[in-house]
Amino acid sequence: MEKYNCKEQQMLEFTYKNSGDPIRFPVGTVYGAQDGPTLVVVGGMHGSEFCGIQAAIDVFQKTDPAKLRGKLVVTTIYNMPAFQNHLGFLVPQDGKNPMRTFPGFLEGTYGEVMAYYFWNSVLKDDPDFVIELHGGDIPERLEPFISVTVTGDKAMDDKIEEMAQAYNISCLVHTPIATRNAAPLGSMFGKLIARGIPAMLTEAGGEGILDMDFAKIHYDGITNVMKKMGMIDGELVDTVERLDMTYHGAIRNETQGMWYPFVKLRQMVKKDEIVGEIRDYFGNKIKDITSPIDGMITVVRTSPSVGVPQVLLELHHVN
Ligand SMILES: [Zn+2]
Repeated sequence: MEKYNCKEQQMLEFTYKNSGDPIRFPVGTVYGAQDGPTLVVVGGMHGSEFCGIQAAIDVFQKTDPAKLRGKLVVTTIYNMPAFQNHLGFLVPQDGKNPMRTFPGFLEGTYGEVMAYYFWNSVLKDDPDFVIELHGGDIPERLEPFISVTVTGDKAMDDKIEEMAQAYNISCLVHTPIATRNAAPLGSMFGKLIARGIPAMLTEAGGEGILDMDFAKIHYDGITNVMKKMGMIDGELVDTVERLDMTYHGAIRNETQGMWYPFVKLRQMVKKDEIVGEIRDYFGNKIKDITSPIDGMITVVRTSPSVGVPQVLLELHHVN
């Protein structure tokens, strides 16, 4: 029987049978005093993106069940092994990015089995909406943005757009679903949309720092969405002008060496403009990096440490 007007926290635990290692997800649930929609919030898909993790914790702590309509399910840290090892992007056990593991499968690698158990427990009962929180990983700085998936199904697209508009983040990067869901295993939010559940990825934070201003961007965004869905009362925080952007993608490194960016976040660049360079380990330039499009810089790798084919910059078209 469904519960009302209470809060629960639990450590969901499964076992990766090939090694016997545990798979753990910290999941908090706030059951509202009245009926309403279900919102699932997932922090720490990348375990060192702390601003999203902190926002998930804060929204769980501060949501009063007596004032909630519906149910809020918060996973504070999805990728616990990365969190515990201060590792960027990947699940340490198999070196896979969890954004390429959903919906997972039981006979897969550790990260794929993680996704399988998460998909079949926390995400099993169709939630009304899902927010996947990111926070810029250890080597990067980014302009807060939302990946707004465009499916071509008007009802779905309207729901995603409404939630994205409510989040109070400026850069709304509209991304075709084909870009997200080309492979059988993909991102959690992309595969949820394919399942018919409105979902979005939101980003604020970076460089392995817990910056409370960025955590607050996520906190305001999540609670704005809850207000928009009628789960809680209150006025939406609405302070930034929205920018309608179309996904282009990343410039990836092709050369062994060190990375020196010449551009800043939100900088507008022209096609073929030099945006940075790769130098050898003695300081000599090996390669100019140029922009493939006219667009706006949204992610800068701020660390000189770079491998092949890691991301140097991300940029998108501004409409
Ligand atoms: Zn991330």
